[in-house]
Amino acid sequence: SFSNLPDAPVDEIFSLNHAYVADPNPNKVNLSLGVYRTEEGQPWPLASVEQVEQELYTQNDPARHEYLPIEGDSVFLGHARDLMFGFNKPDADVGKEVEAKKRIASVQSISGTGANHLGAAFLAHHFKPKHVWVSIPTWANHHTIWELQGIERKGYPYFDAATCAFNFDGAIATLENEAVEGDVILLHACAHNPTGVDPSKEQWKEIAELCQRKRLFPFFDSAYQGFASGSADEDAWAVRYFFNLSTPLEMCVAQSFSKNFGLYGHRTGAFHLVTNGANPAETELVRKNLCHIIRGEYSMGPRYGSTIVKRVLGDERLRAQWQDDLTVMSSRIKRMRQALYDELKRLNTPGSWEHIINQNGMFSYTGLTLKQVLTLRDEFHIYLLKSGRASVSGFSEKNVAYVAQAIDNVVRR
Ligand code: PLP
Repeated sequence: SFSNLPDAPVDEIFSLNHAYVADPNPNKVNLSLGVYRTEEGQPWPLASVEQVEQELYTQNDPARHEYLPIEGDSVFLGHARDLMFGFNKPDADVGKEVEAKKRIASVQSISGTGANHLGAAFLAHHFKPKHVWVSIPTWANHHTIWELQGIERKGYPYFDAATCAFNFDGAIATLENEAVEGDVILLHACAHNPTGVDPSKEQWKEIAELCQRKRLFPFFDSAYQGFASGSADEDAWAVRYFFNLSTPLEMCVAQSFSKNFGLYGHRTGAFHLVTNGANPAETELVRKNLCHIIRGEYSMGPRYGSTIVKRVLGDERLRAQWQDDLTVMSSRIKRMRQALYDELKRLNTPGSWEHIINQNGMFSYTGLTLKQVLTLRDEFHIYLLKSGRASVSGFSEKNVAYVAQAIDNVVRR
């Protein structure tokens, strides 16, 4: 019997979304799920993605439902790797890049979650870290993924509640004093979830130096490349800096195409394990071991999303369209941050709200207390996470004044 099973936690984000859907109030506002929404609150299939879908539909390729290889679609993987690590630019040193690519073992994953899982499973089996260090706070699923691999989780301070900014000194001091050689350190490549607060370039350099000196193993989670700033290069800056250090570092990158291609349900992603390059045979060995895990768990990644991504990234015209699509999404989010900030200023809402415009990416850590969050939900039908995290894409020109008014109301109580 299973009656003695421990109770399993319910996912806060998905259950909140469920409560939002069930709420009949016409003024309700959904700031829960991390998904892009238009001004009208609708999902947005990217124009670049739709063009590929139309091609796929008319081409009627009989192989379109075939299995992929275990490691995934090799053309997709090449594009995914090049996008992440910045290869094949017009001014690239081709010889140098050929060598650099040999350090990277890439496989297709079940989106970003699956890439995180694959990395955690691989490292737990073959590297056996004593601990994984996650930022406090972090994306809740990081905890679940590493807990399921039996690796002890430890937290490094990340968010400074007093300033709503990155607690750089706290993070460095904790890792410096408490992390031990071989520990994994989980880093959000850009647009930190849930806080929207990222290290500066100078701070990234110091984190890299710490990883090298203390022999910590960096694990980048990249779920928002191009979505956050509008530039895929800018959002990959930290990953590329770590990758290009003159003394090569081993590291992992979990790459999601959910947000930057709007392919949420198609579970499109890649996992890259970067070796230090000392032994040229190592990359292939890593790749084979990753394939061994994939085969035993789900055989291979899904086909539809990776076909779309490879066609967009492999075609100059579609790639330019994708860049426009990224600009549409990232600029609307920035506009909504500014609109919320302006409304709160206009209302003279007590407190400082600069962090709303300074934070980056899909989320804002508003600084609202649990009590205020619950009042927003119960009285105003505005749904954000208990931590005060709001998904900025849930705002629109139509609801931002209503939400600001409600925030003003709960803050003044
Ligand atoms: N990592 C972070 C930090 C995220 O915020 C997300 C999505 O919200 C993911 C990974 C993975 O999402 P997916 O599995 O849809 O790619």
